[in-house]
Amino acid sequence: MTHERQFYIDGAWVDPVEPRFADVEDPATEAPFTQVAMGSARDVDRAVAAAKEAFAAYARTPLEERLALLQRILEVYRTRMDDMARVLPREMGATTAVARGQVEGGAAHIQKTIETARAFPFERAHGLGKITYQPVGACALIVPWNNPVQQVIAKAMPALAAGCTVVCKPSELAPVAVSILTEVIHEAGAPKGVFNLLNGEGATVGAAMAAHPDVDMVSITGSVAAGAAVAKAAADTVKRVHQELGGKGPNIILPGADLEAAVRGGLMGCFFMGGQTCGAPTRMLVPEGAQVEAVRLAREIAAGVKVGAPDAEGVLYGPAISKAQYEKVQRYIRIGIEEGAEIVVGGEGRPEGLAHGYYCRPTVFANVTPKMRIAQEEIFGPVLSIIAYRDVEEAIRIANDSVYGLVGYVQAREVAEGERVARRLRCGYVSVNYPPIDITMPHGGFKHSGNGRQWGEHGLAEYMELAAIVLPPN
Ligand code: NAD
Repeated sequence: MTHERQFYIDGAWVDPVEPRFADVEDPATEAPFTQVAMGSARDVDRAVAAAKEAFAAYARTPLEERLALLQRILEVYRTRMDDMARVLPREMGATTAVARGQVEGGAAHIQKTIETARAFPFERAHGLGKITYQPVGACALIVPWNNPVQQVIAKAMPALAAGCTVVCKPSELAPVAVSILTEVIHEAGAPKGVFNLLNGEGATVGAAMAAHPDVDMVSITGSVAAGAAVAKAAADTVKRVHQELGGKGPNIILPGADLEAAVRGGLMGCFFMGGQTCGAPTRMLVPEGAQVEAVRLAREIAAGVKVGAPDAEGVLYGPAISKAQYEKVQRYIRIGIEEGAEIVVGGEGRPEGLAHGYYCRPTVFANVTPKMRIAQEEIFGPVLSIIAYRDVEEAIRIANDSVYGLVGYVQAREVAEGERVARRLRCGYVSVNYPPIDITMPHGGFKHSGNGRQWGEHGLAEYMELAAIVLPPN
């Protein structure tokens, strides 16, 4: 049995103050398969009180004790990876392979957090004394549904390593795997109140967490609308706000790059998880003279993309998370057509042979111009826009002409040439020639993509205050 009908507060599974539940739907079948407790501001009060109470002692534990807790969490986590990997396809439509990857990625994040914290300079001599890092306090963590376990880990593990306590709220659409993760943290022996879990809607539970006077920091990963709402709710209590928000990833294919590899990598990156990743390369910028060939390649490669049930053999992606998300993708495909972009493959409706489930067709638009809505707005679906540019300066201008600035991509024949362009992109994380993800790098966005960074030493520092200890001169 999993615990999504309960909350985890002060070291125990408890019922919500008011019994209110919502169905959790399997997006592949459109049928509910469990229910999640929908909390209220009163549940937030209980969880925050527990986190505040626990902070005083936990903040003062030696680093080695905290890292020993993370090590035990990692050990227990490894014994529950299969359980989490089984649940993720049901609650958020991830394929079996993606679910496995997300869960294994979670273990890697815990391991890296331990290593990062062990090497972190918590204190150094400076001027008349010392610069020290102190834990921020009780932290509210609000996460999305598209990578729920890893998103909680990427926030909660650095928070716990820093000496903070946590109240966490996963997405109401995908709460089950995170309740298993919470069982892991309990079994690993986290002290009472150090980690607390709530469920519920963003506008009620999330908003109450952000506004709570005893919460010292709120960290949200989600849409720009939710991130902005959190910042507003947090403003009166002047707490630290960390936001990891949406993206509209530009992917500049430079003249002379291996076009086949560049188009293939871009297309697969855009369609990965049905486009439901914040870092998806959704705007493919190609030299004017290469557009015809890029479109031909995109058509050919997209024809090989298989969409289907999360556990079916060889599928690249499964259903969109929800009916609302499916309808949003359909709406944007219609907008693209109305704006005059050319459909290369895909379009409205479900892929052939899939009558049920929120499946979207892999869709490529060509002749997209930079100001079209499909080139500016985050769709969070399998929709690629191919945009032609005249010269590299124009490509950089188009890439940066966005309210977003999360992940950017550059494809180049020479890495040095790619790096020169990468430095000019207004994005927090820029990849040249599709390297693997480096989870020790800072991850976060410019502009509407957020504030602050996750992962690595910068992600750990987010959960700390700087305190100067100034001593009399000798
Ligand atoms: P969402 O904004 O709908 O929800 C995210 C979380 O915020 C959920 O837990 C939700 O309940 C909560 N929430 C919603 N409104 C709130 C409010 N007013 N106050 C407090 N909490 C609120 O996003 P989603 O659909 O779950 O996830 C998709 C979005 O997340 C996309 O925009 C995607 O780009 C973004 N995302 C960003 C990153 C990143 O690292 N920058 C990673 C993954 C997803």
